[in-house]
Amino acid sequence: MSDPSIVVIGAGASGLMAAIWASGAGRRVVLLEGTRDGGRKILISGGGRCNVLPAVSSPERFVTDSSPNTLRNMLRAWPLEEQQRFFEGELGLRLALESETGKLFPEGNKAREVRDLLVDLARRRGAELRFGIRVAELAPCGREWRLALADGSEMSAARVVLASGGLSAPTTGSDGWGFEIARRLGHTIHPTYPALTPLTAEPAVHAHLAGVSLPVTIEAPAGKRKAAARGGFLFTHRGYSGPAVLDISHAAVRSLARGGPRQEIYVRWTDLDGPSWEGLVLRHGGPIEGLIARHLPARLGETLCREAGVAPQVMGSRLRRDLRLRLIGLLTRYPLPWTGDEGYAKAEVTGGGVDLAEVNPRTLESRIHPGLHFCGEVLDAFGPIGGHNFQWAWATGRSAGLAAGMGESA
Ligand SMILES: Cc1cc2nc3c(=O)[nH]c(=O)nc-3n(C[C@H](O)[C@H](O)[C@H](O)COP(=O)(O)OP(=O)(O)OC[C@H]3O[C@@H](n4cnc5c(N)ncnc54)[C@H](O)[C@@H]3O)c2cc1C
Repeated sequence: MSDPSIVVIGAGASGLMAAIWASGAGRRVVLLEGTRDGGRKILISGGGRCNVLPAVSSPERFVTDSSPNTLRNMLRAWPLEEQQRFFEGELGLRLALESETGKLFPEGNKAREVRDLLVDLARRRGAELRFGIRVAELAPCGREWRLALADGSEMSAARVVLASGGLSAPTTGSDGWGFEIARRLGHTIHPTYPALTPLTAEPAVHAHLAGVSLPVTIEAPAGKRKAAARGGFLFTHRGYSGPAVLDISHAAVRSLARGGPRQEIYVRWTDLDGPSWEGLVLRHGGPIEGLIARHLPARLGETLCREAGVAPQVMGSRLRRDLRLRLIGLLTRYPLPWTGDEGYAKAEVTGGGVDLAEVNPRTLESRIHPGLHFCGEVLDAFGPIGGHNFQWAWATGRSAGLAAGMGESA
């Protein structure tokens, strides 16, 4: 069979979207995927429910070492409302808003439905999907691209969309190959790091709280990489997880990678600030533990009292001033004792990647190698928990696919 015009490498979220939009313009599109079925991150996303999109776009919450402006342009190329219309209209996937979190999930809460509908639509639009095929090498050859496959065979294409993902959750098929290839092709790769990953504590000083969860405000205030989040916090056997922890984890991870002082992380366990707690404690005629238990889980309250040196039975109004201030300090600005992170194995995304300035923001085509387009996690950008990373994958996948399908260069 003749070589295809367009090869998409990787049938993850961004590659499936790229294949859908590259097809239909009369050119032959082949999607090559290393795993047996593709879309494995979609399958495990959102706890098996797949948080397809956020209800509100928040480009300012994305993290990149490239230009944030370029990132915004890439994300806005496919506005959120249009993405939602695509999923509900063309794909036929009804979405439901989870109002407490502002996340959109499939009405049936089944990630598999999202993956299968994307695969079906790519096929219906004419793309040829080939599974169990890993690309080993990619190199320009005259006006074409030459691909060497892991089985020893070769193929060529006029255009290639590199949608091979990052280093996160490697069991889903992405192992950082795309970074290596892009580097060899002359692209700048911003140092990569695990992001949206749980933090660990060694020794596990809070292991007795494993399973306790609550909404918090969390901040990693120091340095250039400062970060803050509000949301769920979960104690685990090895440390800390939950959306709020994941959202600031890159600041912690990067402080370790720099080898400098470990990033300080502070947690405010409730919505109450220092003066509010002060008023409540001074007016409280009963045991302090009772007051605290009204505002946060009892086991966490006991731990904070113990760490402050406060007897849980002592009457709030009788608490010595220095102890009261120490306890309120722990309630409102708790220095989280963390020592490490769970790395790529548990990371939802990869930070760093292909420099955005080296890619045309409209076509996602390499400014170094015409005919090569990038999309998804291989690019230097990630967003917070909440559907933002799929929003990025869908938006960049569509731009790359459309431009490749039209045979359009910058
Ligand atoms: C546990 C978990 C839960 C998540 N939940 C959510 C969520 O609910 N909402 C959200 O927005 N985001 C979520 N994410 C993040 C989201 O899944 C990713 O941002 C997104 O999947 C990235 O898409 P991608 O196409 O760039 O990469 P990937 O989805 O990683 O796809 C890359 C594909 O390329 C293939 N590949 C790699 N190298 C080669 C090669 N050499 N040859 C052939 N094929 C290759 C891989 O097998 C893989 O299928 C979650 C991530 C994880 C790990």
